[in-house]
Amino acid sequence: MSETLYRLVRDVPDFPKPGILFRDITPILLDPLALGEAVERLAAPFRARRIDRVVAIESRGFLLGSPVALALGVGLVLVRKPGKLPADRYRVEYSLEYGTDALEMHADALAPGHTAVIVDDVLATGGTAEATAELVARSGASVVGFSFLVELADLGGRARLGSIPMHAVLRYPRVQD
Ligand code: AMP
Repeated sequence: MSETLYRLVRDVPDFPKPGILFRDITPILLDPLALGEAVERLAAPFRARRIDRVVAIESRGFLLGSPVALALGVGLVLVRKPGKLPADRYRVEYSLEYGTDALEMHADALAPGHTAVIVDDVLATGGTAEATAELVARSGASVVGFSFLVELADLGGRARLGSIPMHAVLRYPRVQD
């Protein structure tokens, strides 16, 4: 079945800029059977664990994090770009190739002692996921794992996430590539 999922990831060269090979997951969203399989595979490693929240990263992470939260029967927390969340929030800045960016999370979305799984579509350099883990830590909660639909292994994101368990449904480069 992951063969079907691999087939539904569209490779778009030079998007959004020259030299980037964009892994587009929108064909999976068009196929309800494939989307259901993707969601189940994202959720499966965490079914046997006590999880209080799924934390999803803007914006494609929302599309996957919301059904994963439903599958696990837990609440969904949104991590967003600045200026989107209306209530009291934590903010973490992180560095990009050029300059910095920031992410925010509502301060009351997680409480001390809560356990959370962080969900996103693609793990690339890991900067976004690392900043999200820092937001979770700010609230006194702990990250018990990361779940990504796609890992771009050559970019080294996994190493940046330290010792926290990291799960990816699809991995590039593929072993047989
Ligand atoms: P990073 O912080 O480098 O791990 O980047 C992760 C974020 O950028 C994720 O939210 C992805 O949606 C997006 N992203 C980065 N590189 C790619 C890529 N090659 N294809 C698709 N999405 C990407």
